[in-house]
Amino acid sequence: MSADAYADLVRSGVGAAVAKRVGAPRPPRLRRHRPGDDLLVGPAVLLPGPDASPDVAALLAGFADGSVAPEEDTRYGAVVLDARHVREICDLAPIRRDLAPVFRGMRGNGRVILLGADLAPLPGIEARAAQRALDGIVRTLGKEARGGTTVNLLRVAEGSRGLGPALEFFLSARSAFVDGQVLTVGPTSEDPTGPQTPEEPRVAVVTGAAQGIGASIAEILAREGAHVVCVDLAAQGEGLARVANRVGGSTLHLDITAPAAAQRLGEHLRRRFDGVDVVVHNAGITRDRSFVNLDDRGWDSVLAVNLQAPLRLTEGLLDQGDVLRAGARIVCLSSINGIAGAKGQSNYAASKSGVIGLVEALAPVLAERGMTVNAVAPGFIETAMTAAIPVVAREVGRRANSLQQGGLPVDVAEAVAWLAAPGTLGVTGQVLRVCGQNLVGA
Ligand code: NAD
Repeated sequence: MSADAYADLVRSGVGAAVAKRVGAPRPPRLRRHRPGDDLLVGPAVLLPGPDASPDVAALLAGFADGSVAPEEDTRYGAVVLDARHVREICDLAPIRRDLAPVFRGMRGNGRVILLGADLAPLPGIEARAAQRALDGIVRTLGKEARGGTTVNLLRVAEGSRGLGPALEFFLSARSAFVDGQVLTVGPTSEDPTGPQTPEEPRVAVVTGAAQGIGASIAEILAREGAHVVCVDLAAQGEGLARVANRVGGSTLHLDITAPAAAQRLGEHLRRRFDGVDVVVHNAGITRDRSFVNLDDRGWDSVLAVNLQAPLRLTEGLLDQGDVLRAGARIVCLSSINGIAGAKGQSNYAASKSGVIGLVEALAPVLAERGMTVNAVAPGFIETAMTAAIPVVAREVGRRANSLQQGGLPVDVAEAVAWLAAPGTLGVTGQVLRVCGQNLVGA
């Protein structure tokens, strides 16, 4: 039995029949990644642009068996539609004509990916308008898709080496709860091989790793071959040790808001591991109160843990020169509530929007050193944090997304691990929402 008793009920025989009859939500069962599973649930099809998209055809042929051209009466597990060529409004009509018949027959847990042009260098007003129209198509199809099928848009800079790794993540079950999103795969300055060598595992730090999302991030990073330094408050020592043992990692008791936290972390990483490849700023707290009822303590503590600490730790590690290794990846946890705001959470929303500003401002600084920094913004995720929400608000929060269910910690962890991977190129300064296309926010 999962935390979502309603979903369990309406997935069973009688419950399913009743829910269907009364038109109640029937959250699909999402397929999640298991090592060794096929990438896709069925054949993939490419709907190419007028230039025939040979780069995408080659990538798709490498990922999936089956046709890269549409065939009649085939139910596809994935469709990639190349719309990078779109420059005029009239270029949009063929997209609907080509995509509609394939989209109608998608298999459950399918993947629809549109490729668009990077907006930044696009000349001309109509080109920008026509390209931007793709956002509306994707966000709508995300809402119309059924059975756990997701729809996302990748905006790809010309010549970017990041298209392959991005396509692979978005096609896979690792992106099960990423829906209706737009991500830019920019020009690539990073070293594609990264710092990894077979003899030397990458080293990753995860703050707030004793439980919830942080524990899951530690697990997935370890699955990807990293040694994980699990950081949390000393009071969480038992849980932290359990997680570190499970993932074959190590522990560090550290209050990330302590004045000497960056110094201590840097010294630990240099002494024990000779540096670090991945830093995940996951630790976070809430102290919910309406804006008018908040006191200084409730405000300061949330800003200190969620925003000040990631900023100070990152600056501190950068100042210590050689701690962050070449090709390092930093990932910060934001939140959908930092994008949309949330009643009773002005402190939390401020901290989580602040994280987005931090990531945007830091990206060009890190790019000069061949490093990336991104934010992941979870929506409703089944954790201790959301279990504490009053029952009615919890049920509303859980259903208010295109997939009609809460995500799991592993969904956030997979996104973090993808952004932290050495092969993920051209993605920096961005926010990846893992929210099942939450109906609040953009
Ligand atoms: P959680 O409360 O289960 O775990 C947070 C961890 O951070 C705890 O182990 C805690 O001890 C640790 N921590 C708190 N203060 C610390 C400090 N000063 N120093 C070191 N460690 C400290 O939270 P979670 O639900 O797993 O959330 C993880 C992150 O994801 C948070 O940043 C949260 O804001 C974000 N998030 C969660 C959700 C959700 O639905 N659960 C949604 C959006 C964003």
